[in-house]
Amino acid sequence: MSRTTLSFYRYVRLKEVETLRHELYTEWDALGVLGRIYLSQEGVNAQVSLPTKNLDRFRSALDSREAFNNVPWKIAVEDDGKSFLKLAIKVKKKIVADGLADDAFDMTNVGEHLDAAAFNRKMEEGALVIDMRNNYESAIGYFEGAYLPKADTFRGAIDEVLGELKDKKQEPILLYCTGGIRCEKASAYLKHHGFSNVGQLHGGIIDYARQIKAQGLESHYKGQNFVFDERLAERITDDVVSTCMQCGTSSDRISNCHEVTCNMLLVQCEACATKYAECCSPSCREIHLLPEEVQRSWRKGRSTRSTKTKAINDPEGLRKRIREEEELLTLNGTLHPELTTLIP
Ligand SMILES: [Zn+2]
Ligand SMILES: [Zn+2]
Repeated sequence: MSRTTLSFYRYVRLKEVETLRHELYTEWDALGVLGRIYLSQEGVNAQVSLPTKNLDRFRSALDSREAFNNVPWKIAVEDDGKSFLKLAIKVKKKIVADGLADDAFDMTNVGEHLDAAAFNRKMEEGALVIDMRNNYESAIGYFEGAYLPKADTFRGAIDEVLGELKDKKQEPILLYCTGGIRCEKASAYLKHHGFSNVGQLHGGIIDYARQIKAQGLESHYKGQNFVFDERLAERITDDVVSTCMQCGTSSDRISNCHEVTCNMLLVQCEACATKYAECCSPSCREIHLLPEEVQRSWRKGRSTRSTKTKAINDPEGLRKRIREEEELLTLNGTLHPELTTLIP
């Protein structure tokens, strides 16, 4: 059965959010919808996958609610139908965890919305391009020449950008992110801080990719687009802009360490995936290769990291650690002396 992955968001006042959550769960579950949806009093932020044959019914279900009527959705360009494994609708304080005080600036004074063609044109005219995503997202793809924040949170990235551009408040600035939602906040925040010429990519990289394809435009975005579902990334162009964090060869294969108490994101080439058994380090590999029941006893009392949003950000340090661990392993036969009490 063919499935479609799509996403949408809207800043809109929602009332009785808990009740709404239950209604949506029943309604969407019946349509075979899977995905992760955040609801709050300030709106909705949804990433879902559903049987392609139910797209029209899902559209009607959305349109029948005033709050979601005509909400624009963005369809993923590359889709293996396995983007989500369950339906999770969560009630949150905010639909984007942004760390900003909302009453401190005017959320209605946002940057100019630009489509792909207009964004390209302004880029070609020399506007400064700013990536509003976190470091692990821009690791495998970005707009040519864009400023890529080193921070791994939205708040960190926005502070970094403010510092970086403090003398460029009059210059044309272009913001982009995955689906557009973070740029709504970021552009309003920059304008509040005196930036006069702020544009933002409407619909984000996801919709840029669709427009580029549909209109035969040149893609100034190179590589893969990091996404927050099981796929981890969708390919926009064949350019490989990153290197394997373990061996340094050209690669943009992004993966999570398969040792579940680690789960760190990393760029890992096929050869290293085999060598390290899909793990970030010899230490994680040793655990991951143990019989399942031994792994379970080793994990007792350790917390598993279920989120996919922490990345290795010091590849040099990782390579040094791998070298040291391999040496120790050769010397001692194990990196986990505590295991002797677990293995019968
Ligand atoms: Zn490698
Ligand atoms: Zn690991």
